[in-house]
Parts: sequence; structure tokens; C-alpha cells
Amino acid sequence: YEALELSALRAAYALAYGVAEVPSYEIDRADRIVCFGADFLGTWLAPVELAGRFAQARDVDGGRHAKFTFVGPRISVTGANADEWLQARAGSEGLVALAVAGVVASLRGNALADGPLAPFSPDAAAATSGVDAGRIRALGEELAEADAPIALPPGIEGQGPRAMEAQLAVALLNEVCGAMGRTVRLGAGPTRGDSATFSEMGELIERMRSGGVRTLIVAGANPAFTLPASAGFAEALGNVTTVISLNPHFDETAAAAGWILPSHHALEAWGDAEVRPGVRALAQPLMRPIFDTRQREDILLQIAPEGGTGPSAGSYAEYLENAWRAELSSGEDAGGEGGTDDRWAEALRSGGTVAGLAEEPASPVLTAAARGFAFSRVPPPEGTSLVIYPTVQFYDGRGANRSWMQELPDPVTRTAWGSWVEIHPEMAERLGVANGDVLRVTSSAGSVEAPAYVHRGIRPDTVAVPIGQGHTAYGRSAVGRGVNAWELIPAVADEASGALAVAGISVEVASAGRRERLLRGQGNDTDAGREIGEVWNVEHAMEAIEEHTVDLTELVEAAWDSDPNSPYRWGMTIDLNSCTGCGACVTACYAENNIPVVGADQFALRREMSWIRIHRFYEETADGGVHTVHSPMLCQHCGDAPCEPVCPVYATYHNPEGLNVQVYNRCVGTRYCSNNCPYKVRRFNWFGPEFPYPLNLQLNPDITVRDTGVMEKCTFCVQRINRAKLDAKEEGRTVADGEVTTACQSSCPTQAIVFGNLKDPSSRVSQIARGARGYRVLEEIGTRPAITYLHDVTHAELAESGHGGTRGEAADRGAPAEESH
Ligand code: SF4
Ligand code: SF4
Repeated sequence: YEALELSALRAAYALAYGVAEVPSYEIDRADRIVCFGADFLGTWLAPVELAGRFAQARDVDGGRHAKFTFVGPRISVTGANADEWLQARAGSEGLVALAVAGVVASLRGNALADGPLAPFSPDAAAATSGVDAGRIRALGEELAEADAPIALPPGIEGQGPRAMEAQLAVALLNEVCGAMGRTVRLGAGPTRGDSATFSEMGELIERMRSGGVRTLIVAGANPAFTLPASAGFAEALGNVTTVISLNPHFDETAAAAGWILPSHHALEAWGDAEVRPGVRALAQPLMRPIFDTRQREDILLQIAPEGGTGPSAGSYAEYLENAWRAELSSGEDAGGEGGTDDRWAEALRSGGTVAGLAEEPASPVLTAAARGFAFSRVPPPEGTSLVIYPTVQFYDGRGANRSWMQELPDPVTRTAWGSWVEIHPEMAERLGVANGDVLRVTSSAGSVEAPAYVHRGIRPDTVAVPIGQGHTAYGRSAVGRGVNAWELIPAVADEASGALAVAGISVEVASAGRRERLLRGQGNDTDAGREIGEVWNVEHAMEAIEEHTVDLTELVEAAWDSDPNSPYRWGMTIDLNSCTGCGACVTACYAENNIPVVGADQFALRREMSWIRIHRFYEETADGGVHTVHSPMLCQHCGDAPCEPVCPVYATYHNPEGLNVQVYNRCVGTRYCSNNCPYKVRRFNWFGPEFPYPLNLQLNPDITVRDTGVMEKCTFCVQRINRAKLDAKEEGRTVADGEVTTACQSSCPTQAIVFGNLKDPSSRVSQIARGARGYRVLEEIGTRPAITYLHDVTHAELAESGHGGTRGEAADRGAPAEESH
């Protein structure tokens, strides 16, 4: 059982092409992208892979930048990275897809235009969805003209009572666009194992309720939390004689179980998986078990012979090894070098096997059932619509017990440690509420109360509540945080696929007449004209890239900021065009650098310790909308750092390699440096962090744990630099390009961050830093930052200058760098 499952997508492909599978979405091949709601850069399907592919499709320096349109009622992580947002009413995404497909089919002379697509004109879709008919038509025309278009379907947020039909609509759009077999491929997609649909879970609940289930074993799932309360799982559990939880954590299902047999954590366990056809992953324990737990499969293997069936005794590790060896000696993977022993050792070493890439399958043929399919024309319900969505931090709720995830601000709302109700400023005005005023949201299934978050990233007739919070038993970080949005969802399934209907729910929204803390990791929604997150229009960017020539004097300039005798000046580039704002880099830095979590109360006092944070800024567009820019901010390791001269004890100083170094045991905590830092990236330890066992096991042994009264900040992962320098020294050479990667860089799914030696003119970081899109934040005050940002690029027409401001304008605002210096 998976709460966020893909049965509607599988059912649509079963109907359209006779194969119940999830296709491979090869966005990197596309030159025009449209998404009907799936948050593929945040939580849908395989966001790390898809974000990487998305960045490749928009590699503007490589001469391409696929335009991206997002269709949906609310801006998600994915929507925030779009060039164009069509604000479709919740649950109407499928109708818009049908209308767009109709336009494409007519222009391309596809017979589907007169078949299932005929009733869905742009005007009809406009009336239902609220999206302007002209924009629907224009989208269809652009897709029809594109060489390699791709359409992505609705995700969980858009999964309504006709979820399969919406998926089929997008599949037909891909068919008429010519995307099938090119950018959308069957037979190559992720082979996520089948999981029970919501309808199947309903059948189980019915059997439990009627006493038909004597023993229930729950392993690796938390249905007591992730099924809508109205499905009645918790009550039905009371009719089961023996309930056994094999989960690694004490969660809501474990709390309701009579027996808790805790299993190993994934890092302590053996396991395997098929990632996609021909790619098999093998997991082995990375550490000894911390607690008195067992491998889940070992428990099952020991129980099975008691019932007289199943393999007798033996451990799961042996079972797994035997199965893999049998496969390696006879199966597809047998073609490799050496004997079975060698291949098994290699599979263990590399973490699995790759059996060669699947051949490009031919374009699949649409079935007669799809050609004659009669789509229903039921509009979404009237009134205020509810959007329930998973977040990158908590997903279906499973991330909520990690304090790292609680303290990571949400990429869209920049909110941490709680829940919120997103509403548009127009609705806020109508209700007379502002940020932090508590709203009561009531559906036919239940009611929740959470503080309002007011922004323009949602339709005026829609409210959105994230899922994943509101736990009653899931560890101290999760319990009592926020509200459980699953409670708002009625137990209704899409008949065609059995998927839970989450979208298109009608709700009442009212002020609860009180306020609650809304903890936000960002004060301003814009950079107040300071040109921190910069954006260019795509034509301007293409022109600038074409005309750009590298100025070699700039390369020499980089050498100023380190000792002339040192071969290194460490620096970084951050490409805002690639950064999706996901926040993976933020948590990676916590993990690498032993950064403490401060908790909700200290967070409220703005005492969070993150060494890198993500700004989410809005830029006005010419049509009155907003374009979102994400800009990671960390210590800039300035060549002329304002923090250094104000430290009375030289705890912060410039080292020979250009690093701005912080000496913890010299720091006396005056915080003058923090006051003088224009980037506000220095953090002060108000309390000594505690890492009680077993949390101390997570600490990186190469890094000091800082104590009360000490200032800290990004070090450019100096421990990784030192490791590489020691290795190089042993071999009598200097550190090669690419040998040092920072933790934030290696976690970034889009490779937005590049680190290296600015003194080496051939290093990747040097070359990127001298490119056309490079700029340094607040460089006009003369800090000479070691970080070069690359302009974000959008197809949207930006307000004012037409390309979001220029560095020329920045220079007019303040004194040139030399004078201020
Ligand atoms: Fe953190 Fe290292 Fe990235 Fe600096 S370079 S933000 S220390 S991960
Ligand atoms: Fe995500 Fe950070 Fe990379 Fe941006 S730079 S895409 S926030 S990991």
C-alpha cells in the first residue's frame, strides 16, 4: 500500500496502449513542455531524475531553453519553475488537456480531432476551468509547431473522481503531439511495484470491519495515518484479533497494533529493487542495528515454516544472495566478465546491475478503445475548491519525524514547523484575514484549523493545505505539529482506476477568530530591487550569450583574492536557471557540517542555523503576474570581506586560498561580523547543541561541533578541500578540477552548483563564472564575492526593463566597485 500511488496513470495507459505501466518521461529531449499539475520537480514519480532532465532541456548556454507551461490551481515547486501558469480550476486539468489536444489534433490533421476530442473546444474548457480560451488555443498551436513536445499529467493534487480520464486526456495529447515513442516512452519507465489502490484498501477495510480478518501484518506502511479518516481504517482495526506492526518507527499504525516487532531501518537492512527495466539495485546494511530490531524479512522467514509453507529457516541475507547469484549465473546479467562470485562481488560493490540500455521501442499504437472513448463532461463542483498536496519535506507524512525536514522551509511558502492554509490575497481580503490568522477549512469529511498563508500563487477561489503533518504518534519532531489534511478528504475513489479522489473537493473557509505562529524562513517576497535573484528574458539571454567574449583580465582578477604563492582561489557558481528551489542542498549542508536543529521556538526568534538558505523571490511580469526566482544564499567568501576587519580577536580571517575562515576556539561571540555581513549568512550559537545517543552517530567526524557563544557559517566544505589537498600532496600534484565537490553541490539534482579553483582558467567553475550570465550579488559595494550567480532565464515578458534589470542599472544605483572600495 502506498498512499500516493499511480493507479490512475497505469489504468490510462492500459486503456490507451494495452500496457498498465508508467512511461518514461524524457523531458531532456523536449523543446516544449506542458504539465497538467504533477509536481515532478518536487514530489511526483522520480523528482531527482526528472529535475535533472528538466535542467538539461533548459540548458540555455547550450543553445536551448524549452518553454514550460504549468496548468493547475496552485503553484507547486514545479509550477514555480514554469514560464507560464494557466490557472485552471482544481479538477479541471483534464478538460484543459482535452481542449489543447483538440487544437493540436486539428492542426496536425489527426483523426482524434473528430473522435473523442471533438466535444472539447477551448471555449468550453475555458468556461469550466477559468483559463482564457485564447491561451488554451495558443498552447495547442505552440505544441503543434514544436519538434519534440511533451505533456506531463496531473499528480496527486489533480486526482479527482475521474482521475483515469484526466490521465488519458494527457496521454491523448502526447499521442496527437507525436510525443509517444519520442519524449514519452513505454517499456522504459520506472517499474515501481504495483501497490494496492484506494478501492482495494476499501475492500480490506470492509473485510476487517466484518470480522473477516483475524491477523493483520503491516510492514513499511502507515495506513492509520495516510488513509482518509473517513475510510474508517482505525475503527476497522478494532475488529481484527491480532495486529502486528513490522514498521521501523513507532507510528500511528504501530500505536494501534497489539504487537510491535520493530524492523531494521533501511540503512541497517538488506534489500533489492528494480529501478527501471534492466536496472536492479542491491541494498546492503551500512551500519550495525542501533536498537534491538530485526530485518523485517527475517521475521517473516522465521514465521513461514511454522505454518508449514515457505522456505525453511536461513536468513534473508542468504536468501537474497542465493536469488541474486542464480540470476547472475543464468539471467540477463550473466553476460558480464568473470564467474558468478565475481559478478556478485561487483553487484555488491557497485550497488546493483545494469543490463544494458533497452532498445528504443517503436511508437506504440493507440487502441480502438481509446480512439472511441467518450470522456465525461462533468465540471468540478462550484464554490471554494480544496487542494491537498504532498510537500518535499514530508511527502505523505513519512518525513515528519525528521527534525531536519521540519526545519527546512517549504520551497513555495518558506514556512517551517507546522501546517498552513494557502489563500489568495483576494480571498484574504474577503475574509478579513492576514498571514497567521487561523482559518477553519471544512469539507464533507471533516474540518481542520491552521494559520493562513496569503500569496498570489493560488487561484482566488481555491485553498490549499499540505499533507504530512498532524501526527499523533511518530516521534517528538512530528507529534503535535500542524494539522492532518487527510481528514478533509472524503472516502471517494475514481471508479475507473480505484485511485483516491483528492482533487475537486468543495470546502467552506472561515476565520477562526484567533492567530497562530506562522514560522517563515524569509521576510520579503522580493529582493527589494537589490538584484539578488536576477532574471533575464530568454531572447535577451540568447543574445547576450552569443555576443559574449571571455575577458581574460577577469581571470587574473580572481587571483587578487588569494595568496599569489597559492595555486588556489576557491570559488563557486550557482545557476539560477537550473535551481528549482527544492532545498536538498540546505539539508545536505546540515548533514555534512553537523549543523544543529534549533526547534520551532528558536526558529520563531530567527535563530535557525542553516549555512545555506534558499531565497524565493517574485519578479513582476508584464502581464501582471509573477515569475519566481530561487536564489541559494551562503557565505560568499568575499575577497574583501566586511566581516574580517571588525572581529576584535581575528576569529574570522582570509586564508591564502581565498577562503573566509572562522576559527571557533578564538571566537568570543561579539557578533560584530554578523552585523557587518551584507549577505546575512553568519549564524550564532545561542545554545550548546545536544546530540544525545544515537543522534551523535550522525555527526561527521571531520567537523567540530560548535558550542554556545560561537559564530559559524559556510566553510566551502573545507574538510573536503583538505582531504583532496592531502591526497594530491601524497601524489606530488595539485588538486585537479572536479576533485572537490561540496555537499550542497553533490546533492543538487540539477547540478546548479559548481565548485572549484578560480585560479585555474580551465576549471569548470572558472569557465562558467566568466560566462555571459554571470553576476555577483551586491558586488557594487566592493566585497568581491567568490560566488558567481548565473541569471535565471524565462520566456515570460518581465515588467520594467524587459529583462528583469541589468547590472548597468545596478552600477547607476551605487558607486562603482573601485570607488566604494
Ligand atoms: Fe554548506 Fe559546504 Fe555548501 Fe558551504 S559549501 S553551504 S558548508 S555544503
Ligand atoms: Fe535544489 Fe539547492 Fe540545487 Fe537549488 S541549488 S536545485 S535548492 S539542491
